[in-house]
Amino acid sequence: MTMDYPGNLYVVAAPSGTGKSSLVKALLEVDSRMELSVSHTTRAPRGQEVHGREYYFVSNEEFDRMIAADAFIEWAQVHGNRYGTSRKAIEDKIAAGADIVLEIDYQGAIQIKRQFPNAVLIFILPPSWEELRSRLMRRAEDSEEVIELRLRNAAEEVAHVDHFDFVIINEMFERALFDLKAIAHAQRLKVAAQRRARADTFRALNIG
Ligand code: 5GP
Repeated sequence: MTMDYPGNLYVVAAPSGTGKSSLVKALLEVDSRMELSVSHTTRAPRGQEVHGREYYFVSNEEFDRMIAADAFIEWAQVHGNRYGTSRKAIEDKIAAGADIVLEIDYQGAIQIKRQFPNAVLIFILPPSWEELRSRLMRRAEDSEEVIELRLRNAAEEVAHVDHFDFVIINEMFERALFDLKAIAHAQRLKVAAQRRARADTFRALNIG
């Protein structure tokens, strides 16, 4: 289904350890028009994660029920668990003009682009494999074995970069955040967006 909508849909994907979540968090802090979509997942909560904040944590049965009810706009299996974006979480909001950020994997990003051709797909890359490995090691969350698995998964994920519209290389956090803000800013300068935001000016110029 393709629908016309006044809000923008931003999809941000990246291999784990690339700094995706910190970048998105920083964007949301400085850009009050952006809203984060909260996904459903079958994985168990980690650490301080809260149901309804990081994710809606649901059982496999509940996830199956939601698939059957066509409640997901996209869903995918990632590292052995299922993750999905509920239709409810985004359709009403973008129809009302909100800008929504989806932090999802590349499989989900491709599904979103098929349904929302105007969605803005952003892929975040690490500056090198060496740097990604040392970031994962510095995080000290995982064993060496898990780090090697994450690196193998990352190599598979980055191979899908050409499905995306934009690439940000997260070498320096501030620079990467600047790039992310620039992408959002440029979307809002598109003719259709300006027509909506500055309707009075367009009318006054006899082009409304
Ligand atoms: P984590 O379990 O570390 O929070 O997330 C694992 C991966 O699943 C990340 O790449 C994350 O972006 C992805 N993911 C999170 N939510 C969704 C979703 O709703 N749909 C899809 N396709 N991927 C998701």
